[in-house]
Amino acid sequence: MVFTVYNSLTRQKEPFQSLQAGTVRMYNCGPTVYGRAHIGNMRAYLFADTLRRWLEYRGYAVQQVMNITDVGHIQADADEGEDKIEAQAKKENKDPWAISRGWTELFFKDLQALGVRPAMIYPKASDHIPEMLEMIDGLLAKGYAYQVDGDVYYEVGRFPAYGRLSGNKVEELDAGARIEVREEKRHPADFALWKSDPRHLMKWKSRFGEHGFPGWHIECSAMSRKHLGNRIDIHTGGEDNIFPHHECEIAQTEAFTGQPFANFWMHCKFLQVDGGKMSKSLGYVWNLDDIRARGFDIRALRYCLIRGHYRAPLNFTWEILKESVSALSNLDDLVVRLRNASRGMGASASAEDGLEEVSDLIAEFESGMDDDLNTPRALAALFQLRTAVLEGRLGVSAAAAALQFVLKANSVLGVIRTEEANLAAEVEALIAARQEARKRKDFKESDRIRDTLLAQGIVLEDTPQGVVWKQKG
Ligand SMILES: [Zn+2]
Repeated sequence: MVFTVYNSLTRQKEPFQSLQAGTVRMYNCGPTVYGRAHIGNMRAYLFADTLRRWLEYRGYAVQQVMNITDVGHIQADADEGEDKIEAQAKKENKDPWAISRGWTELFFKDLQALGVRPAMIYPKASDHIPEMLEMIDGLLAKGYAYQVDGDVYYEVGRFPAYGRLSGNKVEELDAGARIEVREEKRHPADFALWKSDPRHLMKWKSRFGEHGFPGWHIECSAMSRKHLGNRIDIHTGGEDNIFPHHECEIAQTEAFTGQPFANFWMHCKFLQVDGGKMSKSLGYVWNLDDIRARGFDIRALRYCLIRGHYRAPLNFTWEILKESVSALSNLDDLVVRLRNASRGMGASASAEDGLEEVSDLIAEFESGMDDDLNTPRALAALFQLRTAVLEGRLGVSAAAAALQFVLKANSVLGVIRTEEANLAAEVEALIAARQEARKRKDFKESDRIRDTLLAQGIVLEDTPQGVVWKQKG
C-alpha cells in the first residue's frame, strides 16, 4: 500500500517517499504567540498531528519540528506595520517577552489537552537570531538580497521560481500592490529579511546596525535548517501560510542552500464557524476554555476537528459538537462491545464468523488514511465495524482481531476511550461540575451537564448518599 498525499507544490496527489528510508523530517509552522490559539488554529495543528501519527503507524520515525514565533511577525504580513507581539504588549501594558512567554505556556497546555503528540522540538525564533543572520549574510553574498539603511530585503526578481507554490506572478504582484510601496525597495514584492528600528522592543545588534529584528519568513527557514537540515520531506501549515509565508521560505532556503527545500507542501483548510469565517468582530473566535465552559470534553473537540478531511472546508457549530459527542460515544461503545464479544458475550456462534468482514474493514480504514489522510473514510470503516458487532456477526476470534485493530487505529485518531478507568474520571469530573452549578442555583447549567452525560450514555441518579451514575444499555 502506498501513502499518497496532495502536494500543494505540484497541485496533485503523489505517492509519499521520504528522502531517507524509514525517517521523515517534517516542519510545521507554529503559532505567533501574542494571544490565545483558537479552535481554527487547532485544526491545522491537529492535521499535523494526524499526519505524524499516520506516518508512525506506517513505520516511519518522524522528526517533527514546530516553531514558536515570538518576535517579528508583522501585522500586514509583508514587512510593514506593527509587530503583533509588541502591539499586544502595549495593549496589556506588559513587556513583550512576558507576553510571548505566557501565551507559549498556554499553547502547550492546549496542545496537551487536545492529545497532540509533542514534537521533537519547539524552537523559538528569538533563540535563533544567529542562524537567521547567517542565512541573511549568505543571501547577500549570493546577490539575492540587498541593504537599504540597515534594512535587508530579499529581491524576488532574482529567484525565478518565486510564485511556483502560490501561483502568483511577480509582475502581477507589482500591479496589484495596493499598499504604498516603500521607495527603498527595488520591487514591491521584495520582502524584509531584517529590519532596523530602535523603537522595536525586541531587538538585536548585527552588522546592519545596533537595533534590528528579523522578518517573519526568515525565522522558519533558519529554524527548519538548523533542526532538520537543508532538505526536508514535509512542510505543513494553514492555507493562509501559502502566500506570502511559504513562498518566501522557499525563495530564501533554496537560494541559500542551492537545493530543493521541502519535497511535500501540505496545507490545511480554514475552519468555518456557523458556516462563515471565524471572526473576532462577530464573536465567533472560540478557544478551548469556551468549549469547556459549555460543558464539552476537549476529546469531543478533537474528534470534531479531525472527523473531516483536512483539505475540505469544515464547519463548526455547537450542534455539530454535540453530534461529535454522541459519535464518539459510539466509538467508545465499539471498544466495550468488541471486548465483550472477544470474551463470548454477544458473539456469533462460530469463532471464525466475520473474520473476512473485519479484515476488509481494516483494509478500508488503512486505504482511507493512505488516500491523503481521508479521515472520514477511515472513521466510516470503524462505524461499520460497530454495526457488525451490534448485529452479532462477529465470532470470538473476529472480535478479538477487531479489538486489536481498533486499539491500533486509535493510536492515529487519539480520541477513543479505551480504558474504563478514564471514563470514571471524566464522569466524576462532570458530576462535580454539575454539583457546583446546583450549589450556585445555575439549574440551566446543571441540566446541560446532565444532558451531555446522557448523550454519552451515562445516567445520573440523585440518592440520599449523593449522585450515582451508570451506563445505559
Ligand atoms: Zn513558518
